[in-house]
Amino acid sequence: MRGLRSLMIGLKSDEEIEILRENNLLVSRTLAEVARHIRPGVTTRELDRIAEEFILNNEAVPGFKGYGGFPATLCTSVNDQVVHGIPSDYQLQEGDIISVDCGVIKNGFYGDSAFTFAVGTVDEGKATLMRVTRESLAKGVEQAVSGNRVGDIGYAVQHHAESHGFSVVRELVGHGLGRKLHEPPEVPNFGKRGRGPKLREGMVICIEPMINMGVKEVYQDRDGWTIHTADRKPSAHFEYAVAIRKNKADVLTTFDYIEEVLKQKKEKNG
Ligand code: MG
Ligand code: MG
Repeated sequence: MRGLRSLMIGLKSDEEIEILRENNLLVSRTLAEVARHIRPGVTTRELDRIAEEFILNNEAVPGFKGYGGFPATLCTSVNDQVVHGIPSDYQLQEGDIISVDCGVIKNGFYGDSAFTFAVGTVDEGKATLMRVTRESLAKGVEQAVSGNRVGDIGYAVQHHAESHGFSVVRELVGHGLGRKLHEPPEVPNFGKRGRGPKLREGMVICIEPMINMGVKEVYQDRDGWTIHTADRKPSAHFEYAVAIRKNKADVLTTFDYIEEVLKQKKEKNG
């Protein structure tokens, strides 16, 4: 089975990887545009409108809207919402954290990346959760090189998150990315070193730790989409698309545009 499964993992040409890079950079810029508008009082629906307009203005199509029936351009998941939150009339409040997940389609390929933002000033617990989740992503990316296995990524993410007392969501995982939003292999944020499909040059995967402050268990909202933590404690989510290369992962997403916006906002607010 393992052999069969790895045969199904499509390898991308350099040209295809450059299209995927362009798409994920567009997602990166869209998230930065969203970042510019995140403040207490803004609704998640307004953020969604801004993202959709930005994507359409860049000759691309929102990747999530209509995917499996999802109704919006962004997944906006606030506080105890883990992922797949539907933009609504909810007004962000000082101290919230919001995970914004965004997809695009352009030139026949997807882009898919996510970032968790603080709304104003957040408490130390949430700040630590966001920092550790982002560090967990970086630990996973370090393992995303040819010859390693998918389990090496999961182990690295899980080990870092749990060493800080946080827990890893099991029900939702990362994935291959290409002409489809979700391609093989599945990329869990937990696992054992040396297990799972082998990573090969030309594979493109999304690594996307979903890390909970409390218990790992989650449940799905009656809206059929939103995933919440079972104990209603906060959850954070960061996602990179990554191309597998020989010695170092080739990260197709950048958070640099977001960082620049966050820096500008900080300077403006003193
Ligand atoms: Mg995503
Ligand atoms: Mg994804």
